[in-house]
Amino acid sequence: MSAKVLVVEDEAPLAEILRYNLESEGFRVAHAESGEEALILLDEERPDLVVLDWMLPGVSGIELCRRLRSMTNSRSIPIIMLTARGEESDRIRGLSTGADDYVTKPFSLPELMARVKAILRRTAPRRMADVLKIGDVELDRAAHKVSRGLRQVRLGPTEFRLLEFLMESSGRVLSRAQLLDGVWGRDAFVDERTVDVHIGRLRKALIRGNEHDPIRTVRSAGYVFSGSTDD
Ligand code: CA
Repeated sequence: MSAKVLVVEDEAPLAEILRYNLESEGFRVAHAESGEEALILLDEERPDLVVLDWMLPGVSGIELCRRLRSMTNSRSIPIIMLTARGEESDRIRGLSTGADDYVTKPFSLPELMARVKAILRRTAPRRMADVLKIGDVELDRAAHKVSRGLRQVRLGPTEFRLLEFLMESSGRVLSRAQLLDGVWGRDAFVDERTVDVHIGRLRKALIRGNEHDPIRTVRSAGYVFSGSTDD
């Protein structure tokens, strides 16, 4: 699953250009037209990065930035501010409210894309890499292939996404609800037992003989990808 960027911008043409360019770079994009909408979308979309326009109707970009920094669920999400103001004092103000970076309008799209990628490489490296390798399990997003040691592992599309999601968050326990959201999407009509069924299939494909099980079941909490302990 690629990184998700939340674009907060009230000007529709600019928002469209940003969406188009971010999607061309392989990112998933969510868009909010106002700060109020952004606050709602934040919980639904769980973005990896926010591109935030300074000039917004209602809650301003600066105020939104301050709020995002004060809430536990958004405190660590990186923010790039778009600002029409080139004044040094405004830049400092933007950074002091908690933005990680800023670009001044009119900005060059390649420059903005480069900054988005630079931040995400640092804050969400697993979402940026084409190949995830943990222990002896390797998942190649670009080639859509999985291997364990020298052996190719054949997975159906759902097991592939499930493994990708688990490996992106390796070492962290994911609840069945989180796995449902991340792999099937919020609107899917599947219940939590479906997760167990697919975890079972994934394990069956991943494990041969007495190989170590890289997926640990955490009682009443969920699953965690812990990689191999025996390599
Ligand atoms: Ca604006």
